[in-house]
Amino acid sequence: MRVNVSSHDLKVLDHKHHLHPFTDHGALGVDERRVIAKADGVWLWDSDGNRILDGMAGLWCVNAGHGRQEIVEAVRAQMSELSYYNTFFKTSHPPVIELSEMLAGLTPDHINMVMYGSSGSDANDTILRLVRTYWALQGQPDKKVVISRKNAYHGSTMAGASLGGMGPMHSQGGLPIPGIHHIDQPYWFGEGMMTDMNEDEFGLWAARELERAIEEIGEENVAAFIAEPIQGAGGVIVPPSTYWPEVKRILESRNILFIADEVICGFGRTGEWFGSGYYDLKPDLMTIAKGLTSGYLPLGGVLVSDEIAEVLHRENVEFFHGYTYASHPACCAAAIANLTILKREGLVERVRDQIGPYFQKQWKALESHPMVGQARMVGLFGALELVPDENDLKKRFANEGKVGTITRDHSFSNGLVMRAVRDSMIISPPLSISEEEVDLLIASTRKTLDDAWNDVR
Ligand code: PLP
Repeated sequence: MRVNVSSHDLKVLDHKHHLHPFTDHGALGVDERRVIAKADGVWLWDSDGNRILDGMAGLWCVNAGHGRQEIVEAVRAQMSELSYYNTFFKTSHPPVIELSEMLAGLTPDHINMVMYGSSGSDANDTILRLVRTYWALQGQPDKKVVISRKNAYHGSTMAGASLGGMGPMHSQGGLPIPGIHHIDQPYWFGEGMMTDMNEDEFGLWAARELERAIEEIGEENVAAFIAEPIQGAGGVIVPPSTYWPEVKRILESRNILFIADEVICGFGRTGEWFGSGYYDLKPDLMTIAKGLTSGYLPLGGVLVSDEIAEVLHRENVEFFHGYTYASHPACCAAAIANLTILKREGLVERVRDQIGPYFQKQWKALESHPMVGQARMVGLFGALELVPDENDLKKRFANEGKVGTITRDHSFSNGLVMRAVRDSMIISPPLSISEEEVDLLIASTRKTLDDAWNDVR
């Protein structure tokens, strides 16, 4: 790192040489960008010296909070012992073995194997190849189609973005790739409310979209259904309570694999170790990343049921797939240290029993604000639906996304990182957040809503 470079000069260099992900560069002026220079706990400091509350835990990943020296130390020690080796061709190494055992202790009883990658996106690529390979090995090579949902997010690689249901992503690069089918999502506030169904009926209807799709495509052609227990990047979409029980019923009577994408929901975000646990789901495969290392180093993976592992373990079977940096020793060491912290400090149970309910109560109270149509939160992630008229919740702002962006900019000026998804505001702070920090976060949110409301009403 260069020292003594001014904040402005850093921004100039960033502007000159750095192509950012998911960014409209034409609209991003040099001084509009923020350079995050330091972090500790739930706090960030930018290169101009401002202190900002990280209400998004980075990108929904810093579950243990920033600045944990225990993780830094574990990585340092691992780097000096064995900084790299792979797990291809009959080799392994101690940290990946220890981590895999640890993960098997956290997952449902029928899931005991893990295949690693470096991110949630590449883990979902692995899954797409793996489920098709599984069915081919079972003598059913036609079972190739994966059913997913509109407005789902499963990553940015070709398979990840195709499995995801984001229209703007599909519009670039000729996506989705063949063999992916998208059904409607269980988004009550955004879509269900506009129909003549009540919330429970809408949840059943959305679940039965899966049944209808299976019938249309033919069960003999469907490999799997993939879903986030709660859609994160789509807008923290908490399904109606009728949704998951009905999906479970449909899946139980079909010979189709169920993939739970736990990249955001996993590792405590819902107050359970996995979102599948929160909804009592029984996935065959689970995608993990983010909270696995709390983002300290990149690591992702696919958790695999015994039934699938047994097929892959047969003699003369080889899954021709793997990444150089999968199960990187330093990343595994970071994950072990991170999971040790989550367990020792009881951070997951704390979300379920203490800080989650404390936060949820104050978040729900934001519904009294004239611009908030709905405030929802599960565990420690939530959304605020912004509306122009609190007396007509079906009304939306013109130019979808504009008010969300205005609100997000005010939020940052008020010392809080929130994310805008269309015209809803998203929050997902580190699980280590204290009650005092929740109070500060809520106060900043109220101020932000007032500032934005002054601009738009
Ligand atoms: N799956 C879900 C549910 C996600 O939210 C994300 C990222 O936000 C991904 C997959 C992709 O993970 P990554 O960004 O690590 O590739």
